[in-house]
Amino acid sequence: MRIVTIQPHGFCGGVVRAIRIVERALADENTIKPIYMLGNIVHNKHVVRAFQEKGIIVLDGLSRDVMLEQIEEGTIIITAHGASDKIKSRAREKGLNIIDATCACVEKTHALVKEKLYQGYAVYYYGKKNHPETEGVLGISPAIILVTGADDIKALPAYAGKAVLTNQTTMSYNEVRRLHEKMRLKIPQLELVDEVCDATRRRQEAVIAQKGEIDLLIVVGDPLSNNTRMLEETAEKNGIKAIQIEDESDLDKYDFSGYETIGVTAGASTPETIIDNVIASLKAR
Ligand code: SF4
Repeated sequence: MRIVTIQPHGFCGGVVRAIRIVERALADENTIKPIYMLGNIVHNKHVVRAFQEKGIIVLDGLSRDVMLEQIEEGTIIITAHGASDKIKSRAREKGLNIIDATCACVEKTHALVKEKLYQGYAVYYYGKKNHPETEGVLGISPAIILVTGADDIKALPAYAGKAVLTNQTTMSYNEVRRLHEKMRLKIPQLELVDEVCDATRRRQEAVIAQKGEIDLLIVVGDPLSNNTRMLEETAEKNGIKAIQIEDESDLDKYDFSGYETIGVTAGASTPETIIDNVIASLKAR
């Protein structure tokens, strides 16, 4: 069996920055305690657990506004996925200290959406329902129309005015293009501002480049991580058989004996140590 480690893979700049921000907050004795994280700093259980062990209280599973109401004092950390201005001003109103780890790419999407709304555009946003990044963008204005996939297009009314389609940063860049083409049949003036971030795009391109070179792709990452799921989807849409695992313990669920060349990649929130362990475990087989 030959193992190909696909580059680039794993941590992106936005994740590294978010983790550093939290580490700095923990190390700083002036940080007002308790420290709450509004959701998972990045979608990876190993990373989140390490911070919980250092005393950070992680709230999850509810919308940000509901979680925020459970906090009465201390500091809140806004995760790399961002949050709407409404959430930030409510936190200030409650007297909470805010540490903002929003990725610059997500900030850029927020700025774009605000500008387009100001210019009178109908704004369509392609994203995953209930994902924190989508929640943050939709929180900008109730006028934003969420499109979660091709099925939603059927229900969209035709619109002849100026309109723009933009997207969650971790979607498939090919899917964004396909969706735009389909939507333009109903919304002829629909412009596209593709907001797939560079890290997501380069990881997807690297997977597509493996077409015909590998027999199987192993994507290492948390099931909640959208960019991890998109790597698996990108592989499958390009005819590459793919599986997604969380860490090396999941390898036992599969039989790899029929494969000659296996590619390994990882989502942008997967730590390098987990990827190394997967590769070492594969080699040991
Ligand atoms: S995947 Fe993209 S948007 Fe998300 S943190 Fe990394 S660089 Fe930022």
